[in-house]
Amino acid sequence: MGLPHYQHYINGKWCPPSNNDFIESINPYTAKPWCLIPRGNANDMNQAIEAAHLAFTQGEWPKMNATARGALLRKLGDIVSQHAEHLAQIEVTDNGKLIAEMSAQLHYLPQWLYYYAGLADKIEGQVLPIDKADMFNFTLYEPLGVIGAITPWNSPLLLMIWKLAPALAAGNTFVLKPSEFTSASAFEFAKLVEQAGFPPGVFNVVSGTGQEVGDTLTAHPLVAKIAFTGGTQTGKHIYQQAATHLKKVSLELGGKSPNIVFKEAHLENAAKGVISGIFAATGQTCIAGSRLLVEKSIHDEFVEKVVAIAKTAKMGNPLSYETQVGPVTTKPQYEKILSYLDIAKAEGAKCVLGGSKATRPECGDGWFIEPTIFTSVNNNMRIAQEEVFGPVLSVISFEDEEEAVYLANNVIYGLAAGLWTQNMQRALNLSKRLQAGTVWVNTYRTLSFMSPFGGYKQSGIGRESGQEAIYQYLQPKCVWISTATEVPNPFIMRLK
Ligand code: NDP
Repeated sequence: MGLPHYQHYINGKWCPPSNNDFIESINPYTAKPWCLIPRGNANDMNQAIEAAHLAFTQGEWPKMNATARGALLRKLGDIVSQHAEHLAQIEVTDNGKLIAEMSAQLHYLPQWLYYYAGLADKIEGQVLPIDKADMFNFTLYEPLGVIGAITPWNSPLLLMIWKLAPALAAGNTFVLKPSEFTSASAFEFAKLVEQAGFPPGVFNVVSGTGQEVGDTLTAHPLVAKIAFTGGTQTGKHIYQQAATHLKKVSLELGGKSPNIVFKEAHLENAAKGVISGIFAATGQTCIAGSRLLVEKSIHDEFVEKVVAIAKTAKMGNPLSYETQVGPVTTKPQYEKILSYLDIAKAEGAKCVLGGSKATRPECGDGWFIEPTIFTSVNNNMRIAQEEVFGPVLSVISFEDEEEAVYLANNVIYGLAAGLWTQNMQRALNLSKRLQAGTVWVNTYRTLSFMSPFGGYKQSGIGRESGQEAIYQYLQPKCVWISTATEVPNPFIMRLK
């Protein structure tokens, strides 16, 4: 029996790629192909953008009021909820993340749909007490148009829903280009959008490579905004592409987040927090706490605790609920992580755990890397400055609070930071001084649909989740209505 074939979802129809070319999607646990996804080209992407533009300007969608859009999003949320387990299995097969995490993630996913469904009809303009007696002035918030979303392979549906839910609640239409490595779940999701009964063209999915279909999406004049999650280099390229037609952008990029542990912290909890920051999801998260900054006086004791937990990590089949560290999602990423292990060793970092690919029998032919910890790291080393996106922790010690803040902020990124202390004054002061879009105190790697997420510095532009996110898919308009009986002097601007 052949591998399952997916098709593009364009204008409410399932369409084969126009050149009939497919890409094998590889299961990172077996290193074998398990399905085929369409290798789209500019022609396919253009069709999807035109369909989305038509759906934005004509037909049922623009006539639907915000309450009706909210009801449809709620219905989609219910359907996703019923299919959460199936979607989780697809994601695990495609990207190798743990079923324990993906099942929880997919069951939580509908919350974004419910939250923005509720918000859809609570976006209110204002009547302004305008300073001209014969004028009536009010504001409206209107959708932008076609949203082009580009998503990565680490949490395909979660990172899509962060964009889709506010975009549709605001009345836009949507074209998704998922990562070529993990597109299957987007097509499975499209089946649920179809079942919910969204008008054709409101949601479209075209797969393929970044160069072939991604560039078409970012350069197309009918696309109003690009919402992107992925690597910083790709983000910069997309920003430049978007500039051609002055598209709006939101970019959620990389990180080199510090997990800072002070001597008064609850050290057992802090050690677990450090583990969750770097070994959960095999370190393949933008929020990975990849730098452990630890106060010098507890360095050895604390590193010992972290190493002891990391040593017990069970590796193997991500579809088993017992597994704690799964494979790396893609072969290029696997090779990239291995190259960083060599870089760290050559830089003089001391490897106290792991440091190589994993050859345990339970890892089979999959792309596994041993959980790795480097000590004696200096903040200027590449291993401390560059995003590895794998299970590799760099440990750096500090003398005092000032040095901790300096080291934490001294990277180009600013996505997240963890802080472990029992001293509330320190927790509050440092939460303000850390240059990061998210600061976690005595916890790490927790998210909510209500809480805005995004980066400082080169970690991105814009925010996802929370009430702010919907305004990134809307634009304000001012309406002036004159009640004057006569138009005053037409040769000067009306200021009074
Ligand atoms: P990319 O940033 O290249 O991929 C993210 C998405 O962008 C994918 O859908 C990709 O398509 C697409 N893309 C790539 N090139 C273009 C382009 N020219 N125009 C439009 N879209 C494009 O990430 P990689 O997979 O290459 O990973 C590289 C590094 O990025 C990782 O090692 C990690 O450091 C970081 N990363 C960060 C993530 C985050 O959550 N912030 C997520 C993933 C990676 P396709 O892959 O199909 O070609």
